[in-house]
Amino acid sequence: MAKINKLLIANRGEIALRIMRTAREMGIQTVAIYSEADRNALHVRYADEAVCVGPPPSTESYLRTDEIIDVCKRLNVDAIHPGYGFLSENANFASAVRQAGLIFVGPSPESIEVMGSKLAAKAAVAHYNIPMVPGTPSAITDREEAKVISAQIGYPILIKASAGGGGKGMRVVENEAEFDEQMDRAVSEAQSAFGDGSVFIEKYVTSPRHVEIQVLGDQHGNIIHLFERECSVQRRHQKVVEEAPSAILTPEIREAMGRAAVDVARACGYYGAGTVEFIVNDKLDFYFLEMNTRLQVEHPVTEQITGVDLVKQMIYIAEGKPLTIKQEELQIKGHAVEVRVYAEDPANNFLPDVGTLETYIRPQGNGVRVDDGFEQGMAIPIYYDPMIAKLITYGDTREEAIQKMIRAIDEYQISGVQTTLPFCRFVMEHDAFRSGQFDTGFVSKYFTPDKLTPVPNITEAELAAVLAAYLMENQKPKTNGPTTQIATKGSKWKANRLS
Ligand code: ADP
Repeated sequence: MAKINKLLIANRGEIALRIMRTAREMGIQTVAIYSEADRNALHVRYADEAVCVGPPPSTESYLRTDEIIDVCKRLNVDAIHPGYGFLSENANFASAVRQAGLIFVGPSPESIEVMGSKLAAKAAVAHYNIPMVPGTPSAITDREEAKVISAQIGYPILIKASAGGGGKGMRVVENEAEFDEQMDRAVSEAQSAFGDGSVFIEKYVTSPRHVEIQVLGDQHGNIIHLFERECSVQRRHQKVVEEAPSAILTPEIREAMGRAAVDVARACGYYGAGTVEFIVNDKLDFYFLEMNTRLQVEHPVTEQITGVDLVKQMIYIAEGKPLTIKQEELQIKGHAVEVRVYAEDPANNFLPDVGTLETYIRPQGNGVRVDDGFEQGMAIPIYYDPMIAKLITYGDTREEAIQKMIRAIDEYQISGVQTTLPFCRFVMEHDAFRSGQFDTGFVSKYFTPDKLTPVPNITEAELAAVLAAYLMENQKPKTNGPTTQIATKGSKWKANRLS
């Protein structure tokens, strides 16, 4: 076993901070890396030490394996946590870290490699009797043959990039007449996004729900699951609202999916935290989609309902400690919902709207968690993902968590950029979401910008209360502090929330 004393976080923003907080609780020194665009970022200030690794583009900073490993050597770092995105699912990086004699807080390069290809992943789990969507077992080389297979499977079908991620290189084909055109698009998208144009075919599951299982495995062969997260509210195949547990799983299906997820992890000798993604149809049949070999954006909802700190477990596992949590001891307690707050304009096709956070006041209170990396007055850099924060609420029941979310959204004050908060409020209030009867088509089926109803007018008394809480949190408000900003930007703030 190797004790980690100093951890470098090869990431930025909310996830870098989130990892550092747990590391600090564990008595581990933290090292931040940052690009020139992030000089004043919170993760830089929070860390014990911070090193600039290059100019703003991530290829010249956050993705520089050599420089990051060099920083570790210079500062006597013994482990690297990659967070999500950037180098988190890069097998070459994991292996370079290992070769440099450092600990990679994550799975082995071999597991990352296998699960990094959707086709290799399917092949790896083939012996485990995991339900899979009917489709081609390998990359398509002959289009005519692919059309014959598609006709056998039955349209609609989905063309998917083997190296896919983030919903890229994915095309639905409704009938054979569309096949060639969609195939060309999928291949060129896959080629430009992943440098690998291999695609395969899957039956398109209609009215699908996205349900994923969190797993944890140690280096001694113990693997457990921490139940599911439902992530069916998506736009462009990207998650925007997540919750745990799912509103529709029965205890039997939950158990069967959990077992299947553990088998998937076992099939690639997995250790660390990972997520096994499934698609679930309207009869609650579930099919394996892929495994993400890292910490997910939406991991907090699992932490809320299980009480397990996933980052802490990842660090223990990386140190070689055996898991101390037993499957039979785990229980779902309460319900958690997460919304992703992006600097995007929901009234304008979710186009990124980066700029300066002129007003930025977080909601607070019992059962509200905000994972973010910004403060009032900070600019959101154009170089990276425009996520401002993750807002998570927790209650005894799903209804309570949703009510808390609506309250928290109303209290979240952001001006200077458009955000997805009004859209998230729309989701929370929608009957289909409230009743649990929704699928991945939720956004295209129900959402149009005219549905962004105004958030109820906050009264002066309420505003004063929020302001007082803010001032108490920030003992030294800046001279041009929130009072003036809110007073003068009030109308703009309302306008933002209405759009
Ligand atoms: P990516 O790696 O690009 O995120 P996934 O395989 O995880 O791709 O799928 C992303 C989303 O695409 C799923 O959550 C689901 O909404 C949709 N999807 C994927 N496969 C299918 C399928 N066979 N049928 C219907 N929808 C699918």
